[in-house]
Amino acid sequence: MTQANKKTLLELRKRSKLLVTIGNCAAMGGIPEIKNYREKKTAIKHVYKYIQGIENEDIQEVDNFVKVDFSLPGCPINGEEFLNYLPLLLAGQIPVIPDNPVCVECKKKGNTCLLLEKKPCFGPMILGGCDAVCPTARMGCQGCRGLRPKGNVKAMKATLKQMMTDEEFENTTEIFGLRDSIEEWEATHIV
Ligand code: SF4
Ligand code: SF4
Repeated sequence: MTQANKKTLLELRKRSKLLVTIGNCAAMGGIPEIKNYREKKTAIKHVYKYIQGIENEDIQEVDNFVKVDFSLPGCPINGEEFLNYLPLLLAGQIPVIPDNPVCVECKKKGNTCLLLEKKPCFGPMILGGCDAVCPTARMGCQGCRGLRPKGNVKAMKATLKQMMTDEEFENTTEIFGLRDSIEEWEATHIV
C-alpha cells in the first residue's frame, strides 16, 4: 500500500461508522499478493515502463492498517449476497456469514465431489456463499472466499497433499492470498 493509499484509508476510517471491504483483494491480498512471494523487484518492471519513483510496497490487506467491520468475501463477490447484506449494513448492523463450507452448496447442486475423483478442491475449509460456482464448473475451489472460522486446515492439507505436490499446493494458495491465512492458522493451532 502506498503512502497516498494509507492516507486515504485512514481518512475513510475516520469518516465512517462502518468500514466494509468488498472482494478478495482488499480482504486477503488477492492475486496482487503473489508479488510478495515472487519476484517483487522484477514484477514492477512488467507493470510500468519507467519505474523511477514508483513505490513497490508489499501488498497488505486493509485490516493491517484500520479496523474493518465487515468483509464481503470472494473474487468476484456474489451479487445476491451483497444485496442481502447491504440493508443490514445500512441499518448499522454487522452481518454474520454462516460458517458453512463451499461443499454445502456444492452438494445441494448435486455435483459429484471432485475429491472422489482425486481432483484437488479446497471446498471443505473455505467459507461458502458463492453457490459453489467453481466445483459446479468442475474446477476445484481455490479459496477466494477465505478460510472458514471452523475449517480444519490440517486435515484438508493432508487430504490435498495426496493429490498435489507441495509446490502445487503452495502455488494454489497464493492465487487468492490464502497462503498467509493458512500460515496464521498453523501458527495458532497444533499441526
Ligand atoms: S467438489 Fe469440492 S466443494 Fe464440492 S463437495 Fe467436493 S470438496 Fe466440497
Ligand atoms: S468455489 Fe471457491 S474459488 Fe470458486 S468462487 Fe467459491 S470460494 Fe471462490
